[in-house]
Amino acid sequence: MKKEMEMLLKLQEIDYQLGELERSKDYLPDMIFNLEKEIEDTNRELVETEEELKNQNLEKKSLELEVDSLNQELNKFQQQMKVIKTNKEYDALTTEIANRKLKISKNEDRILELMDSIDELEEKSTELKKKKEDVDATNTTQLETLRKEMDSVGTKIKMKEDERKNVTVRIEKRLLATYERIKKGRGTDVVVAVKKGACGACYKSLPHQRIQEIKMGNGIIICDSCGRILLWTGE
Ligand SMILES: [Zn+2]
Repeated sequence: MKKEMEMLLKLQEIDYQLGELERSKDYLPDMIFNLEKEIEDTNRELVETEEELKNQNLEKKSLELEVDSLNQELNKFQQQMKVIKTNKEYDALTTEIANRKLKISKNEDRILELMDSIDELEEKSTELKKKKEDVDATNTTQLETLRKEMDSVGTKIKMKEDERKNVTVRIEKRLLATYERIKKGRGTDVVVAVKKGACGACYKSLPHQRIQEIKMGNGIIICDSCGRILLWTGE
């Protein structure tokens, strides 16, 4: 019986590993997707920030040029002011001057806003460049490992299945059927160790006599409560 129990434990270990491999077929693509997405998102954010920075610098430059030419006009009107002859001329010039002053003031306000915003964008761009460097390096390494793992999952499953066959042929048919039935209903925990005088899976406490039987290992003892195979590991 001890030999059979050993085989069952071996089978259970293989089934754990097969379960992990099957699960990895789901989570590996997710992990790969997320790592790739992080690289793309960081890159896109950097490109967008740089683009915005470029646009704001262009806007600032153009406003500054406009202020220069407005100042020249203003200067010209102020010179004309010294030689005017009529009230009508005076009124017209006053309007032109007020007009230019208002525009200059508006442009200067916007330039100040842009200067603040450009400072922030430059800071953000520096941070993003650093982040991109980190993300590129870390994620590329991880992706390499994960893609290799992904490529080998199929082969690993095939190998485990062969290994499983080699074990199952060495287990008595009825015992194997019992194992498969429990596995179907309970999942991967089929053979469980006795812990603190109770079933290690459902924690139902076991009578002293039962524990003795399990210790002896003379037969397959099933937990009354959860139906799993009980094993003595010398707790
Ligand atoms: Zn149990």
